[in-house]
Amino acid sequence: MATHQPGHVRQHTGTPVIPGGRFAVLDPATGEAFGEAPDQRPDELDAIVGRAQEAWRHWRADPAARTTALLAAADAVEAAGADIAPLLTREQGKPLAESHQEIARTAARLRYFAETAPQPEPITDGRPVHSEVRWRPLGPVAAIVPWNFPLQLASAKFAPALAAGNTMVLKPSPFTPLATRLLGSVLSAALPEDVLTIVTGHEPLGARLASHPGIRHVTFTGSISTGRAVAEGAAASLARVTLELGGNDAAILLDDVDVEEIADRLFWAAFRNCGQVCMAVKRVYAPARLYSQVVEALAQRAKAAVVGAGLDPGTQLGPVNNAPQLARVERYTAQALADGARAVAGGHRLDRPGYFFAPTILADVPARSPVVTQEQFGPVLPVLPYGHLDEAVEAANDTGFGLGGSVWGTDLDRAGEVADRLECGTAWINHHAELSLAQPFAGAKDSGVGVAGGPWGLYGNLRPFVVHRPQEV
Ligand code: NAD
Repeated sequence: MATHQPGHVRQHTGTPVIPGGRFAVLDPATGEAFGEAPDQRPDELDAIVGRAQEAWRHWRADPAARTTALLAAADAVEAAGADIAPLLTREQGKPLAESHQEIARTAARLRYFAETAPQPEPITDGRPVHSEVRWRPLGPVAAIVPWNFPLQLASAKFAPALAAGNTMVLKPSPFTPLATRLLGSVLSAALPEDVLTIVTGHEPLGARLASHPGIRHVTFTGSISTGRAVAEGAAASLARVTLELGGNDAAILLDDVDVEEIADRLFWAAFRNCGQVCMAVKRVYAPARLYSQVVEALAQRAKAAVVGAGLDPGTQLGPVNNAPQLARVERYTAQALADGARAVAGGHRLDRPGYFFAPTILADVPARSPVVTQEQFGPVLPVLPYGHLDEAVEAANDTGFGLGGSVWGTDLDRAGEVADRLECGTAWINHHAELSLAQPFAGAKDSGVGVAGGPWGLYGNLRPFVVHRPQEV
């Protein structure tokens, strides 16, 4: 469990509060506090949102200046990568190379949206009138971000929102505020004042931000239950909401799959970032004939994965990010074992400081065990056998989640037909969780509301403004 430094007076959602309006940030590889961030009060938001409204008047007015500023921001992020990456790894836990990938993705996203300006669109319907849609920004946007990809998910929000001409107030998770604060100060060198403001603190800061009357769009990534609360809060001011929520993605292996050929990709699609990926593979359905081979191939990789602190060279899997999340992973695993599952690899916490859990492959898991029906969000993967393919498709779809899914096999046409039957936002074939900057990302069912990514992500931050006049002769 967390070791607290003297002076920390209480534990609040896992991050100790320090007297003087600050809170401690823990290193999940040790459980020890190593930094701190301001615990901003909800009432401070009024002034911050007011400044974001003021900054919007200028930021919205000059698209060419925005493009220049966002391209300069991308360069600044890249130049600061060596400072930001270790801080991100320290507070989040992920291997250093993956922190660098988050930073590269942040810069790439800034460049992509800087150059994806909305264009006026003429509309004709055969009548002698001319109408044109001119896209307008919404105003100050609130962004609320979880702890699994603090920078990548923040940039998925601020890059399109700012490119569209909005300003933004962004709140990272209290578990991972530091790299986002550093990123914010790096960006402030390229962006005008108050165009992007980072706020940090405990609840009800996020709730206040989501329901703030000066906010016109709330873009949230996190759990389904918090997403509901955010939507309720935003309803007060009728702000637009975009919600990117949880997932419980299934991977269906077809009977012509080459198990050894796909095993590495399948394993890392489940265990990257210690399984803390909304669109990770969270359950595997394997044909009964190949079941033992699939379980064994995954177990071998789980046993061979190098687990350690993200800053240690050679580490492939870091710790779970925080104590409540580790408790959830332990609870689901213990329940599965009590339900009759076998841990073919792992199945327990590691006996060392920090929030480490052994990479775990569970076989013979009952289909209704919570590790199958819920989102474990950790380094634990249940593998289930199926008889007829229809059973696997039905089981994959038998959930309120609908983020992603994948199909693995040799006959790509057949895999494509099965992928088409998945009820989710993105279906992959022979890999999982790969996204291009230019594609839409949207969850089906309870996994989301609205669309991020590509031009769709840009238009999510704009409203159509129409000018309508008689056509010239
Ligand atoms: P969370 O819902 O607990 O917290 C997300 C953010 O909301 C944090 O910044 C938190 O401080 C804030 N928050 C908490 N209570 C709030 C409230 N009442 N009002 C407003 N904000 C509030 O989620 P988490 O544990 O940080 O992240 C894990 C979850 O995020 C998982 O369910 C995962 O699947 C999901 N996720 C989804 C996507 C996606 O794109 N669909 C991506 C990454 C993570």
